[in-house]
Amino acid sequence: LPTAELQAIDAAHHMHPFTADGELKQKGARVITSAKGIWLKDSEGEQVLDAMAGLWCVNIGYGRDELADVAARQMRELPYYNTFFQTTHVPAIALAQKLAELAPGDLNHVFYANGGSDANDTNIRMVRTYWAEKGQPEREVIISRWNAYHGSTIGGTSLGGMKGMHGQGSLPIPGIEFIDQPNWYAEGGDTDPEAFGLERAQQLEAKIKEIGPEKVAAFIGEPVQGAGGVIVAPDGYWAEIQRICRKYDILLIVDEVITGFGRTGNWFGSQTLDIKPDIMTVAKGLSSGYVPIGASIVSDKVADVLAATEFNHGYTYSGHPVACAVALENLRILQEEGIVDRVREDTAPYLAEKWHSLADHPFVGETKIVGMMASLALTPDKSKRAPFAADTGTVGYITRERCFANNLIMRHVGDRMIISPPLVITRAEIDTLIERARKSLDEAYEIVKE
Ligand code: PLP
Repeated sequence: LPTAELQAIDAAHHMHPFTADGELKQKGARVITSAKGIWLKDSEGEQVLDAMAGLWCVNIGYGRDELADVAARQMRELPYYNTFFQTTHVPAIALAQKLAELAPGDLNHVFYANGGSDANDTNIRMVRTYWAEKGQPEREVIISRWNAYHGSTIGGTSLGGMKGMHGQGSLPIPGIEFIDQPNWYAEGGDTDPEAFGLERAQQLEAKIKEIGPEKVAAFIGEPVQGAGGVIVAPDGYWAEIQRICRKYDILLIVDEVITGFGRTGNWFGSQTLDIKPDIMTVAKGLSSGYVPIGASIVSDKVADVLAATEFNHGYTYSGHPVACAVALENLRILQEEGIVDRVREDTAPYLAEKWHSLADHPFVGETKIVGMMASLALTPDKSKRAPFAADTGTVGYITRERCFANNLIMRHVGDRMIISPPLVITRAEIDTLIERARKSLDEAYEIVKE
């Protein structure tokens, strides 16, 4: 079918996530037909550089036949079975063993989910069950951060700190509390970044005291806030958060859905930022997005307590054999091809140098990067870190549109532009990414200046 016809059918029948319907009907969605490496091809034959790795997930890049072969083989051998009621299968066993090996510390136990949102739902029930089993059932409250993203299920949306999402569906559920995010650029004023980070971390202690430590089950945070705009906490923030969690015996859930599997230059963001979680949420890069799978990776401390009871929780597709087999092959490729090491030692430092070079643009207020996730803030006044006055999102949206027109997928969150390319991006491809980004920034600047 011609593109226009596909777009018309799409707009008539397909409800897109996070997309305004009017926008779809007016412009039509871009139809992606195939992909290889970091390049998408659309129905008009255009080659588009995907600087978002899909939704931060295609870590090994598109078009790896090995994953397709493993999926086909697994579908022929055992297309489905579950691990409820004392059954198991080899892909679930092998992947759990591999994750226990890769995950830091004593994170040795894996509870499978379909993605990040429902893994976080598992976490809510798991930490509350943990405290109930320890004889403290009143410890139910989970503290999160404004502007965090933890998924779109009822539980995931509740844990997330996106007010616009809470407004749709009367959320959060009871027992979720929030502290402010460590976003120095937008909220730090004249305070020095580290002092600001410390102050934001200490909000956790104040919140625990306000609620009563005997009622608090856990704190949840992304090592680097992704969907919130790639917000990197100032140095010292995570050390303080952990000090407070330990002081009040509060479980630490680290949501590594984006930061896992090489994104920050180590296997996990927790290693990059020296965080020691009790539970880690993973998804996305676990299978490089080739199949849906997520998991909670759980410490000995938590698993030992849960082992005393039956945890009445699980999804039909928890530990789906095809998903586990594909994820395992993905991890093999990441490991055997040295992709994580190459990111840390070569391509991430190269991207950092190029990304920071955009800071000289009249439109760019700050550039931030950790490994292969980066953001820049758009501003009308660099010296004041000023936001654009009108409708937030507009200038970011215009810039994203210019990127799109220049065959570059970048995302915007308000007036922050963000990237998270496949980890296999080469130096030459990074050069192309930066050239297109600069061109798009120039074009957006011309539009906005008027
Ligand atoms: N947690 C974080 C940090 C995420 O970024 C996301 C998705 O972007 C999720 C959870 C939700 O994962 P999923 O979309 O696989 O349900």
